[in-house]
Amino acid sequence: LSKENGKNSFSFYNAELDKVMMRKLQIENDLKTAISNEQLSLVYQPKVDLQSKKVVGMEALLRWNHPQLGWISPLEFIPIAEETRQIIPIGEWVLNEACRQNKQWQEQGYPPLCVSVNVSVLQFQHGEFLETVQKALQTSQLDAQFLELEITESMMQDIKESRDILDSLMKEGVKTSIDDFGTGYSSLSILPNLPIDTIKIDKSFMDELEKTGQYSIVKTIIDLSQNLNLKVVAEGIETESQRQILRENGCLVGQGYLFYKPVAPNDFESILKEAALKGDQDEIPLLGDF
Ligand code: C2E
Ligand code: MG
Ligand code: MG
Ligand code: MG
Repeated sequence: LSKENGKNSFSFYNAELDKVMMRKLQIENDLKTAISNEQLSLVYQPKVDLQSKKVVGMEALLRWNHPQLGWISPLEFIPIAEETRQIIPIGEWVLNEACRQNKQWQEQGYPPLCVSVNVSVLQFQHGEFLETVQKALQTSQLDAQFLELEITESMMQDIKESRDILDSLMKEGVKTSIDDFGTGYSSLSILPNLPIDTIKIDKSFMDELEKTGQYSIVKTIIDLSQNLNLKVVAEGIETESQRQILRENGCLVGQGYLFYKPVAPNDFESILKEAALKGDQDEIPLLGDF
């Protein structure tokens, strides 16, 4: 820092840093009581069939309504929850709530769908993860086939341990997918041996689907999933051309603002009702009274 601008820019920088630090400290501290104060909730983003646009599943996404700070993005508070290991109880809350809600929808007569829940690496590696999943299923009475766990690629670092956990989950009947595929640093060679069901193409790769004929990464991931007998789901679909190219290249399922944003449980119910009224009953059996 030069003498002339040194003092002022330094104190300005300090003030900004203070603000950032204070916010982080507050988030860190208030997260401890977010569950007991009932500030956490889940929203659901429909997954759709890219041909018929019918809802075939949903992803549960965590929301935190802070009394002073308002809605805080999971992109901001989940890394902090991971640092403080608060993610363990929070992740458990998410699992329980997603299973409970999904079971409730089934009991209300909505078509049974699979709910996908995001799982943090810390949760996944926590010694009691399997028990937590089993407990959530038991308490909610949700059939394991209607639960999917989305795990990011970075979790596959400790490959031996990860495989053991994934094996147990598979035996349990729970589905698993690799989230944000292509953004991590894992070696492709680990994939063939991992007991997973689905690869999710990260939304950052949707951009290339706008340039005609230049979708090499997405095409490669779809081909890879087909060669490995895995399902493939695209996230972050915002345009009709993205939907079309994905579909033409063999990706059957996706999610994104083109179809639906993540919505509160009530609105998700409305989406399901609307789909039923549009005459989807033929393909979705088990529709009862709403
Ligand atoms: P993710 O699991 O990859 O979820 C997809 C994110 O993309 C969501 O952001 C979703 O709202 C957003 N999205 C969906 N469609 C579109 C689209 O068409 N365009 C764009 N630009 N974005 C779209 P959200 O809800 O803010 O969540 C961000 C991330 O936070 C998630 O990424 C996930 O990694 C993490 N997260 C959310 N809920 C949980 C949770 O319960 N547990 C854990 N461990 N992580 C969570
Ligand atoms: Mg996800
Ligand atoms: Mg994702
Ligand atoms: Mg993502």
